[in-house]
Amino acid sequence: MKFLDLIAQYKSIQREIDAAVKRVLDSGVFIGGTEVEEFEKEIAKFCSLKYAIGLNSGTDALYLSLKALGIKQGDEVITTPFTFIATAGTITNLGAKPVFVDIEPNSFNINPTKIEAAITKKTKAIVLVHLFGQMADMDKVMQIAKKHKLKVIEDAAQAIGARYKQRPAGTIGDCGCFSFFPSKNLAGFGDGGMVVTDNKELADRLRLLRNHGSSPKKKYLNLILGTNSRLDAIQAGILRTKLKHLEKWNKARAEKASYYSKNLKEAGDIKVPHIDPDKTHIFHQYTIRTKHRDNLQKYLAGKEIPSMVYYPLPLHLQPVFKYLGYKKGIFPKAERASREVLSLPIYPEISKSCQKEIIETILEFFKK
Ligand SMILES: *Cc1c(COP(=O)(O)O)cnc(C)c1O
Repeated sequence: MKFLDLIAQYKSIQREIDAAVKRVLDSGVFIGGTEVEEFEKEIAKFCSLKYAIGLNSGTDALYLSLKALGIKQGDEVITTPFTFIATAGTITNLGAKPVFVDIEPNSFNINPTKIEAAITKKTKAIVLVHLFGQMADMDKVMQIAKKHKLKVIEDAAQAIGARYKQRPAGTIGDCGCFSFFPSKNLAGFGDGGMVVTDNKELADRLRLLRNHGSSPKKKYLNLILGTNSRLDAIQAGILRTKLKHLEKWNKARAEKASYYSKNLKEAGDIKVPHIDPDKTHIFHQYTIRTKHRDNLQKYLAGKEIPSMVYYPLPLHLQPVFKYLGYKKGIFPKAERASREVLSLPIYPEISKSCQKEIIETILEFFKK
């Protein structure tokens, strides 16, 4: 059994993918170009926003949007400690300081009621994460941001296609950041990322930043200091093909999740994922909670069932952020989550028999 089967997805649409790859190879354009421009238009349309800027990773989507929004040395940026390192690492790489705020335990997302207490004169932005495929409480976050004039960056790397009150992830803050890393719901065969926004100035700046600040009008005229963070045409071609299937795949994940939940909700002390009524969940991860997490994971491994812990150590306790001075116990909800969460295999193609085996093994564990 696999935790994630990337080959199954390729096989299911192999002809379309192969045709897209051949189209790019035959075009002779491998970085940027029409393929990337068309993909950007399609993502902008998918999000009902004006601009989408293809980049070479989700990490760069975060880093460059923070940079384009003017975040710099000495600024503070509020974020969640229960996420992938890139969320806070990009803030730090700009010389700014990540300021963590504890999570809301049902959704694992930032707790908006704790944000205001963390705001200081230096606070410039909030980077929030829509963890595991369910969006954070955007209305409350936006209200606070508006009141304190803070920028809002949505880390939607795990949530492309998820909705909050009908609005897609990435479209409510100043900008939204997507990742097309091979394990994400919309996944390339390599690295890739994108920023979406309605802000033209921000979009123009990102287009400059991703290409060494080079003028789009005059070759070798560099307007600002940028970098190389362009999206490959071959990834764009593959992702355009996959985008057509995304809603169907997200729905399939939600159905697989609901099958797990129906059968696991009574097992031992398991807490199955909570879906807020005003949100859709696209189940980038299917994550349960139990006090017996470590033993359950070992038991599953003994039966050759893979599972993962996202995330075993919250960011405020990571060695890299030791200098920030956070002590153990300061964010009890995030710390408890890191001890209790377990993600089970989920992807659109996972078979019922696999799920059954996983469910039965978990039920068996709790009987013992
Ligand atoms: C995957 C991920 C990223 C980084 O994306 P890359 O494309 O791997 O750079 C950032 N934030 C979150 C929450 C992610 O899951």
